[in-house]
Amino acid sequence: MLSISPFYRLRLPGPTAVPERVRQAIALPVLNHRGPEFRAVLGRAEELIKPVLGTTNPVLFFASSGTGAMEASLVNVVAPGERVLVCIHGQFGDRFAAIAQSIGAEVDQLQFEWGTAIDPAVVAAKLKTADYRAVVVIHNESSTGIYSDLAALGKIVRDTPALLIADSVSGLGGLEMRQDEWGVDIVVSSSQKALMCPPGVGIASVSAKAWDIVNRETKMPRFYWDFRKAKKSIEANETPFTTPVSLMAGLVEALEMMHAEGLDNVLARHRKLSVRLREGCNALGLATFGKSNQLSTTVVALAVPEPLNGGDIVKRMYERHKTVIAGSRNKMQGRVIRIGTMGFFTDGDIATDLLHLEATLADLGWPVKAARA
Ligand SMILES: *Cc1c(COP(=O)(O)O)cnc(C)c1O
Repeated sequence: MLSISPFYRLRLPGPTAVPERVRQAIALPVLNHRGPEFRAVLGRAEELIKPVLGTTNPVLFFASSGTGAMEASLVNVVAPGERVLVCIHGQFGDRFAAIAQSIGAEVDQLQFEWGTAIDPAVVAAKLKTADYRAVVVIHNESSTGIYSDLAALGKIVRDTPALLIADSVSGLGGLEMRQDEWGVDIVVSSSQKALMCPPGVGIASVSAKAWDIVNRETKMPRFYWDFRKAKKSIEANETPFTTPVSLMAGLVEALEMMHAEGLDNVLARHRKLSVRLREGCNALGLATFGKSNQLSTTVVALAVPEPLNGGDIVKRMYERHKTVIAGSRNKMQGRVIRIGTMGFFTDGDIATDLLHLEATLADLGWPVKAARA
């Protein structure tokens, strides 16, 4: 068997630590994906995730990572040559624009400085300049630790022919989502972030307004991702192709845990502990990255002060403490480190993060003052 340190601590902004209860559920016998036992699992998953999304939409599940669900959201509504507006304030916005380009959409990129939030007024003005099929945003930009005001964006897009598509891969379950109330047409997410599961399940929730576009006769190249097939199947508690049955059993268990804690309590825990971690890091001399009052509750992004290098901090945290945090895999490489505050974590995890970070910074020669949160 693979040997993993008993002190291994997964503190990434995804994938995240998975509770024992969920891992036990995943270890149950593999089920027939078209049998009664699994239909009950899938039905329960859909029932339990709807309140997390704040929706009465049908919810679709795919065997995929989050990026697959992002691609699915576009191939079902954007025909080649149609125009989309992608709002970009970090790495995942870049990814969404790249996906849109790859499927032959006309892509307008609305750039916001990384570390700031998407400005709804700028989106509103841009939306008036062309006929857009969709406005695409990242709900929680994991690369910068900033979230988007989906309520404000929903107001802008709601009364236009455009659809509002939101990537809430790293938000859903940890950051408030009221899809129906806010007017978000397609929310995509995946299992391995605030939903406390291993990677492997992509999720899409699709509004009535979006279904009208999904169901068009217009030629949109799609097969595996076809929402029409997925919807027909989910009505019978099935998926069109083999479901990742074990992961879905895990997802149900994770959702049961979230409901038992209380969805409001889950969100409050994310708010409280993300603030606590951020303040503790600030006290150590690591400033919050960016300038925004829309700081994520699921990921803490920190600016790395000269002469330190983010990669060295990440490496030392792992080698010395077996605490796995993230650097940056983009233009901010070396300058930003990120710690997940999503899913299955408590105040004890935050205290340990700060302890390990303090020791690490001291090891690297940074003049650490006392910094207990
Ligand atoms: C993690 C993440 C994704 C998905 O990444 P995958 O590796 O494909 O699961 C997409 N968007 C955001 C904002 C993310 O944080």
